[in-house]
Amino acid sequence: MAGYNDFKYLSDFEAKKAIIEAGKRMYLKGFVASNDGNISCRVGPNAIWTTPTGVSKGYMTLDMLVKVDLDGKVLVGKSKPSSEVKMHIRVYKENPEVMAVTHAHPPVATSFAIAGISLDKAILPEAVVNLGSVPIAHYATPGSTDVPDSIAPYCKSHNAVLLANHGALSWGKDVFEAYHRLESLEYYATVLMYTGKIIGQANELSCNQVKELITIREKLGITSGGIPPCSLVESNTKDVVTNTAPYIHVVPQVNKKERPKPASYIDPSCGCSVSVRSSEAVNKQTINQEIINKEDLINELTRRITEQVSESLKR
Ligand SMILES: [Zn+2]
Repeated sequence: MAGYNDFKYLSDFEAKKAIIEAGKRMYLKGFVASNDGNISCRVGPNAIWTTPTGVSKGYMTLDMLVKVDLDGKVLVGKSKPSSEVKMHIRVYKENPEVMAVTHAHPPVATSFAIAGISLDKAILPEAVVNLGSVPIAHYATPGSTDVPDSIAPYCKSHNAVLLANHGALSWGKDVFEAYHRLESLEYYATVLMYTGKIIGQANELSCNQVKELITIREKLGITSGGIPPCSLVESNTKDVVTNTAPYIHVVPQVNKKERPKPASYIDPSCGCSVSVRSSEAVNKQTINQEIINKEDLINELTRRITEQVSESLKR
């Protein structure tokens, strides 16, 4: 991160207001459950404002925040700072250019942290430029002194890190840059999930394309973020008019026990029993067939995504 040298510290009031606003956004975005997450903002060489323990980040007021020094000692405020403030302090100590740190448990990125898959596929230009690649720091008990040690190697070279089986941590030159990196990280993880796990295919940016993005990033004064692995082959340089990508064969599982029994009626002309497939049975059979054209594939993906979104909203 460059351009920090001429940085002026925020006033106490400005820092607290920014923390409360970022807390609201974090909560509304569903990045935290209950009282999870924490935010801090540096206001002097040895002072930060941070969020208290045991409070929902969506409903904080100015008087709840705590000012601590870089040893974690409370300077101002009646509340107790979060035990996770230790990892914030470590980021400030490792990288003096950082002015704010945000931590949350965004569900998709946290799932990658649990799966042990770092976010480093070159698929989104914005993610390469503004966020960079996001490594996973090895597991450490939340709140323990092992957490700061686990993230320390990445504080200067990267802009965010996933904490194994825990959540995400990001930092920047102010509260909103740190928070926006958290948003970008969750968005990036979501796209990786759709392309990798649901659509099952992603054209990665080629090494030349990544090189151009890194040049743009450097021109913007961003010197951290790492360089993601890139594709030697350019796979996204042609217009796609007819889909030649391999189709995903979606075969929904239908429980045999639940299959409706065919209805039947007596045909008066022959006095024999004729079975009639109910519309439900016909539908199930249709779904059971492999989906072989693009439109069906898109419909099926839309259905699955809608299902997932409505499931997560119910929770
Ligand atoms: Zn946490």
